[in-house]
Amino acid sequence: MKKENRSLVRPDALPDSASRPVVTPLSPSVVYASETPDMLDRQYEGDLHGYTYSREGHPNADVVARRLDRMENAPCPGIMTSSGMGAVSAVLLGLTRSGDHVIGGNQLYGRSLRMMTEDLPRLGIDTTLVDPGNIAAMRAALRPETRIILVEVVSNPTLSVADIAALVALAREAGVLLVVDNTFTTPQAFKALDAGADVVIHSVTKLLAGHSDVMLGYVAAKDPDLNDRLRIFTVTTGMTASPFDCWLAERGLLSFELRFQRAQSTAARLAEHLTGLEGVRRVVYPGRSDHPDHARAEALLDGNFCNMVSFEIEPTRAAANAFTRAAEGLSFAPTLGDVGTTISHPASSSHRALTPTKREELGMSEGFFRVSVGLEDPDALCSVFTQAVAAAKIT
Ligand SMILES: *Cc1c(COP(=O)(O)O)cnc(C)c1O
Repeated sequence: MKKENRSLVRPDALPDSASRPVVTPLSPSVVYASETPDMLDRQYEGDLHGYTYSREGHPNADVVARRLDRMENAPCPGIMTSSGMGAVSAVLLGLTRSGDHVIGGNQLYGRSLRMMTEDLPRLGIDTTLVDPGNIAAMRAALRPETRIILVEVVSNPTLSVADIAALVALAREAGVLLVVDNTFTTPQAFKALDAGADVVIHSVTKLLAGHSDVMLGYVAAKDPDLNDRLRIFTVTTGMTASPFDCWLAERGLLSFELRFQRAQSTAARLAEHLTGLEGVRRVVYPGRSDHPDHARAEALLDGNFCNMVSFEIEPTRAAANAFTRAAEGLSFAPTLGDVGTTISHPASSSHRALTPTKREELGMSEGFFRVSVGLEDPDALCSVFTQAVAAAKIT
């Protein structure tokens, strides 16, 4: 039964069409009207599917989440959050309580590290940061009250590879949740849940959406109860993703595999090219046999070494400035996974809070750069690097 009254403010129904759109419609509606209180009751009881209020869920989030579920082989419906940090926060704040202990990788994404060192302790949750490639140290950090181990597969920006197989065994043995932030590796290189993780996290902002025009996160737990707790926490804390961002991310995901393959093959090529350049002191790429974790990367990532390459030139600020100035067409910007190549300089950005000595210890001098390889023509990209490395040598 249609109620139509043109004097009221709500729109008429959409025009009839015997054919359907081939693109998911964008649904910015915050509220969804039900026909009767009885029907709304049945929606809340779960015997009718229907949206009510978009903080609790909306079609564009569901469409993109189901696509990500398939990519990650997630058994429960994963949850879209307003950013990758939303997903990290949902796990670290939504699954812990005061008195718990959380272990994190010692080279997590900067904001995740900050949450581990500032916010969790403020709420009475103790944290320890450990190298996820060092299982003895991980084991030593475990306490009876340890609840979560959070790691990234490939570390930022030094690209070391976590010992995931050993971490899975350790977490099982200790009854601790293993949470994997799969942003760098993507489900194309690594399926975290299949590998034995309990929860997988993504910053969809990066390679998955891929065009630097969306902020979005995704989180999925294997266990239905945990997954429900994550969903409820994100709804209560308002971490809801915007329909428009979800809609753009769906569009990005359609070309994700192609973009990933192309960026990864160019990254291997660039790593090779940089190795031969005078003025480059060191190249870090997990696909190279001289990488300390090469064998582990090979075993874990099924031949995918991803699109991130790090390298070092003369370790002075003057050389670093000359390099970025001469790197024409590449964005010197703190992100990754964009269609365009981006370069970041940890000493002046992500790791600026550390002392120079501490940075040296971690292997990030003033001459250390991280490259997120994009979709440019590989020859053209390599020539820009040749030119920029040469310019840095002259200073
Ligand atoms: C960017 C990033 C995040 C945070 O994601 P946002 O979408 O920027 O909030 C978390 N983890 C990793 C590994 C990232 O690269």
